[in-house]
Amino acid sequence: MSLSVYKKKRTFSKTPEPKGKKAKSGSGLNFVVQKHDATQLHYDFRLEMDGVLKSWAIPKGPSMDPEVKRLAVMVEDHPFEYKDFEGIIPEGNYGAGTVMIWDEGKYEPEENGEGDTKSQEKNLLRQWHEGKLKFILHGSKLKGSFALFKVSGRGENAWLMVKHRDEYATKKDITLLDKSVKSKKTIKQIETTSHNYYQSNRSSNSDNKKSSTSEVKKNLKKTPER
Ligand code: MN
Repeated sequence: MSLSVYKKKRTFSKTPEPKGKKAKSGSGLNFVVQKHDATQLHYDFRLEMDGVLKSWAIPKGPSMDPEVKRLAVMVEDHPFEYKDFEGIIPEGNYGAGTVMIWDEGKYEPEENGEGDTKSQEKNLLRQWHEGKLKFILHGSKLKGSFALFKVSGRGENAWLMVKHRDEYATKKDITLLDKSVKSKKTIKQIETTSHNYYQSNRSSNSDNKKSSTSEVKKNLKKTPER
């Protein structure tokens, strides 16, 4: 699996997003959902597989209601460390807007999920190739059994995401929980706290306020550097 499409779309001198390479995670596979306030607000759902993050953009966000199917548009693979990215993609860049880590955690295939990470990964990759994934999420917001399956007649990248019936299923709108699981900030708060970083980047020497310098340092620490 390749990150060439991901890299082609981005200019890394102009966006704080990770450049990315394939990576090996520890034990267990990770998932992340990033709320992305771009031209159109959506939720990016990403599953770790084979060292990258398989990614889908869900316009309405995930649902915990088994009767609701959500359109999930498959997008390019993202680098593994993208799962830690929260911040602002500056204007003029691909996907410009604010990114929040809305949910994260481990996940596993629903069937034959026993075994080590490697065999789980193999299992999931096979399901992905077949266009039908069944998995269990262990997030802070998203929990339990879900499916993602490819649909025909709605463009070649159209998939649907649906919650399976289990003890976590509910009609409550999970997207009303609108804070980052990482920083506990809302999209608005991420927007205001990340602001200085880009301002001082743009105005370089002319900006000599001490407060903004410390803000820059704080934000630099939060930005994945690889
Ligand atoms: Mn996005």
